[in-house]
Order: sequence, then C-alpha cells, then structure tokens
Amino acid sequence: MNEVLLDLQNIDASIEKKQIIKNFSLTIKKNEVHVIMGPNGSGKSTLSKILAGHPSYSVDKGNLSFCDKNLLEMSPEVRSHEGIFLAFQYPIEISGVTNYDFLRIAYNEKRKYQKKAELDPLEFMELTQATIQKLKMRPEFLNRNLNEGFSGGEKKRNEILQMLLLDPKLIILDEIDSGLDIDAIKIICDGIINNLAENSSLIVITHYPKILSYLKPTHVHIMIDGKIVKTGDLELVDYLEKEGYESFISSTNQV
Ligand code: ADP
Ligand code: MG
Repeated sequence: MNEVLLDLQNIDASIEKKQIIKNFSLTIKKNEVHVIMGPNGSGKSTLSKILAGHPSYSVDKGNLSFCDKNLLEMSPEVRSHEGIFLAFQYPIEISGVTNYDFLRIAYNEKRKYQKKAELDPLEFMELTQATIQKLKMRPEFLNRNLNEGFSGGEKKRNEILQMLLLDPKLIILDEIDSGLDIDAIKIICDGIINNLAENSSLIVITHYPKILSYLKPTHVHIMIDGKIVKTGDLELVDYLEKEGYESFISSTNQV
C-alpha cells in the first residue's frame, strides 16, 4: 500500500507573472503533521492556495500528486471532495446563507461525489449536533449567517466544524492561530487532534510555537523565498525561537 498522500516535486508557481514558489519539493505520508514556518512573504499562503486550486495562481513547472492522482487535473471542488481541506487565515462572510445550510450543502456535495446518499436536514442535524458539542460551540451558531458578525475565534471554530464534517485526508491550517487567545487555540487543536480521521495528515503554517505543543508535528520545515531551506523536528522550532530566521536567510542568496 502506498503511504504517500501528497507528493510535490520541483514546483515553480507564480501569480500575475511574479514567481513565488521556486523549485519546491515536499512529500507527505499518511499520519504525518508537517509544520511550515518562515518569514512573511516567503510563499507559505501561496503554497496552500496552490494546493487548494486557487485560480489566480499558475503552476509553471513540476508535479503535484495527491493519492497518486494529478492535482493539476482537478478543479478546486474535486480537490475538496477528494479530501483536501484548506482552513483560511481570513474566513469569508456570506450573508443570506445560514451556517447550517452552508454546511449541509458542502457535506452533501461531497456525498454525491462519493456516490453516497445525501442526508436530509434532520439526519444532518444529528451529525452536526454531535460535532458542535465536541468543539464547545453553541448550537445557535448554526442558524446565523455564515461567519457574519462572528468573532475571530468563532470563525476559526466554525471552520474546524466544517472540516470535521467533511472528514478530509489532508488538512492545511494557514495561520489559524493568529489573533486567537490561548483557550481558543487549545479547543481548536484538541478538536482537530482528537477527531482527526485515521491516516489523515496536516500541514500547519504558523508563526507561534504554542500551537505546536498541541499538534505534535512530525516534521518542521523552514520556507524562505519560495522553497524549503531546512527540515528538522521540534528542536528546529526551539532553535528558531532563539536565533530567528537570520542564519537561514543569509544562506539563500536573497537580495
Ligand atoms: P506568506 O504567506 O509566506 O507570508 P504569501 O504567499 O502570502 O507569503 O506571499 C508571497 C509573495 O507573493 C509576497 O511577496 C507577496 O507580496 C506576493 N503576492 C501575493 N499576492 C500577490 C499578487 N496578487 N500579485 C503579486 N504578488 C503577490
Ligand atoms: Mg501567509
């Protein structure tokens, strides 16, 4: 059995003809938690958007495969149905759509793709209730418009609710901890770790070591100027806390 979930080989990628990702390679197996740290502007969010299939970015070179299938041949919807979930740094608000309807539509779209029966509103409510309890969310959230007027912590928790319902194979968390208090970070991380499906993997993009004490990474990467310049384990995070990115930046010929 092939344990490789995501395989990125020598990727170049750009936005509006500006190259951001430069000969980037990364292999993620099932059950791994990969952390990507790096200075602002190094291309971390660009990488996550490329994995999700954001239309503004172009992949100019390299191979991207997910469960042995070519990612570039999949639309963003298909990627999500196949099991890639990107939690945004800034979740969007939608008025006129309740959170509950949004979740149910997203859930049933995936069921359709998998050729499984859709859940009716009552069945889906049962499934959702169990999950919101785990995340210590109030049930009223479901009746509000998607993310409208939600606090930062509520938006993030709502994304994790979405994530748990969709049961993804690869979860990408792009700075979900920015602007959250310690309690919210802990609830969210516990929610992810305790409910992660067997064999699921995580990519965690963060500036803060706090989240890593909950998420227990197996790999830590430093990304600078569009590529990974160093890979290690949690000790690398300790080193970064003391020394910063300086020594890695000077070794990459940046101007
Ligand atoms: P990070 O998440 O590591 O902070 P980003 O992936 O957000 O970095 O950004 C990487 C680089 O891409 C930055 O230099 C940023 O200015 C550039 N970039 C992002 N969006 C655009 C755009 N629409 N046009 C040109 N450059 C962009
Ligand atoms: Mg970013």
